[in-house]
Amino acid sequence: MSFETLNLNPQIQRAIKEEGYTQPTPIQAQAIPTILDGKDLLAAAQTGTGKTAAFTLPMLQKLSSKKGEGKRYVRALVLTPTRELAAQVHQSVRTYGKYLKLKSVEIYGGVSIQPQTRALRNGVDILVATPGRLLDHVNQGHVDLSKVEVLVLDEADRMLDMGFINDIKKIIADLPHFRQNLLFSATFSDEIKRLSKSILKEPEMIKV
Ligand code: AMP
Repeated sequence: MSFETLNLNPQIQRAIKEEGYTQPTPIQAQAIPTILDGKDLLAAAQTGTGKTAAFTLPMLQKLSSKKGEGKRYVRALVLTPTRELAAQVHQSVRTYGKYLKLKSVEIYGGVSIQPQTRALRNGVDILVATPGRLLDHVNQGHVDLSKVEVLVLDEADRMLDMGFINDIKKIIADLPHFRQNLLFSATFSDEIKRLSKSILKEPEMIKV
């Protein structure tokens, strides 16, 4: 299978080519059409499988092809357990989206809050964040999540292990009811199954 058959737009394909990717990994081959179709997704995937591109590429495609490009309000929200993962995902968004007109911002704890507040005020299409610090910004009125179209929970099992469940629930309460939900997790504990049930609507399931 080649990336051409996935119907990604030329700007995204160009960025992928520049990364030297020749074909989608198994999770990408399965997840990208499902996400482009607008379905919710529950994916069992370890790091190293290409899971980041599996959600980032179709997310970029959806945001760039719908009206709203350049509107600068949060339309996609990616939650990650750690600062390192947030930075990594944000870098992927920048790399794959470098020929698109979408703005992304990373938000995490352990660093000064003001530069993040300024970045949020300047407008953002894609927000990659850890739950605790994002909630601080939400509570202080720095960011409006009421127009989010796509929610991604990356490494959801680690977020639960780190005790983020209540923060995640509070964040989700600020999101619009109609949205697409994508949940990635390396493991499937009962807790993850419960979380999936409460968030995802008739999800497609993928295991790699
Ligand atoms: P991840 O599982 O998202 O952490 O990705 C693992 C690594 O695989 C990253 O360094 C990506 O740049 C790389 N990668 C992702 N998709 C592909 C692909 N289709 N072909 C080659 N490398 C890829």
